[in-house]
Amino acid sequence: MSLIVQKYGGTSVGNTDRIKAVAERLVAAKRAGNDVVAVVSAMGDVTDELLDLAAAVNGEPPEREMDMLLATGEQVTIALLAMAIHALGHEAISFTGPQVGIVTDAGHTKARIQEVRADCVREAIEAGRIVIVAGFQGTTPDNQITTLGRGGSDTTAVAVAAGIGADVCEIYTDVDGVYSADPRVVPSARKIAVISYEEMLELAATGARVLQLRSVEFARNHGVVIHVRSSFNDLPGTIVKEADPSMEQAMISGVTHDTTEAKITIRDVPDQPGVAAQVFSGLAEANVNVDMIVQNVSEAGATDISFTIPKEDLVRAKRAVESVVERLGARSWLVDEAVAKVSLVGAGMKTHPGIAARMFRSLAKAGVNIDMISTSSIRVSCVIAREQAELAVRALHDEFDLATDQIAAEIAPSAGGAE
Ligand code: ASP
Ligand code: MG
Repeated sequence: MSLIVQKYGGTSVGNTDRIKAVAERLVAAKRAGNDVVAVVSAMGDVTDELLDLAAAVNGEPPEREMDMLLATGEQVTIALLAMAIHALGHEAISFTGPQVGIVTDAGHTKARIQEVRADCVREAIEAGRIVIVAGFQGTTPDNQITTLGRGGSDTTAVAVAAGIGADVCEIYTDVDGVYSADPRVVPSARKIAVISYEEMLELAATGARVLQLRSVEFARNHGVVIHVRSSFNDLPGTIVKEADPSMEQAMISGVTHDTTEAKITIRDVPDQPGVAAQVFSGLAEANVNVDMIVQNVSEAGATDISFTIPKEDLVRAKRAVESVVERLGARSWLVDEAVAKVSLVGAGMKTHPGIAARMFRSLAKAGVNIDMISTSSIRVSCVIAREQAELAVRALHDEFDLATDQIAAEIAPSAGGAE
């Protein structure tokens, strides 16, 4: 008998028939002798619709009120799912994030979890019930409702799994695992059977949209094993866990692309101590998340600084840059929104030299110009023109043979599933 957390995303609970199907899955897992906790998202596109409603009444809605609004989406799903389970003759009880004691900081719309109390979850399990928890939401210590950022239900699921010591956290979604590239761009992309937290973090941070980045961070920090799988079939998906010696590693795990960032360049800033500090302090104060930074060689005492930021921070970034440019007496600045970041991720980079060179050669052969480069010990990212993103992904997937199964001995996904 296992203690399982199962998370169902928006598509998996997109209408009442799908909610009934999820109810059946949960009851089957329970009847098979497991204790089950479900974490669910808002139905279908409900979160997007709520965002549209807010935009219709206020262009810059107060973030506290935004959270009041967004948290309603998940509350609809938990109640309906509990009712559907009761209709199948089984005991179930639903809880909101605040009821479960998902305590966060006060960073409205992207709050961070500080503590998971989960007493009511444990008690309800003891009483033999299927427990249903609203994803994406929490509460500050002084009772303000918060949300955890888009895709935050993944993080709720992992946090609840850590809080109750679950054997596995199964993330049911509309794709059946983590792939070596986006299968819509590379039809031959391969499903990855097992991947380390380290590599999954890099994939999630650079554009793989299967898991929210914070959920992977939380899982790594608390040793929660994640199983990403489809809610529409019973196939094993992708296991995310600590790398261990028995886990035969592919040299390269995958290639990702991200078109959600914009590039800002400040021209002719004085090349002297303290300038970069001023530019990026201004951006930090404006709560802008800077990703890549490149400073050019200086000419005649002046230099260019380029950096990338999420497009959703663009309005705030522009304001911050404007005032810094004026203060520094820089010549001008410009924004390029038509960029993409293409990244190659693989633990094998630690031991195989020359991977970056091979990546650049492959991009050159495809006629792709590289604008900016950044690396970590297991990742190389390039900023390129957005219109070439898919071409670049396909070229790299080919170059590194990612469609072929490079893993000699795959580990069977660990048990604990509902099936
Ligand atoms: N409903 C939220 C969203 O659409 C949270 C989630 O689904 O994970 O981002
Ligand atoms: Mg998601």
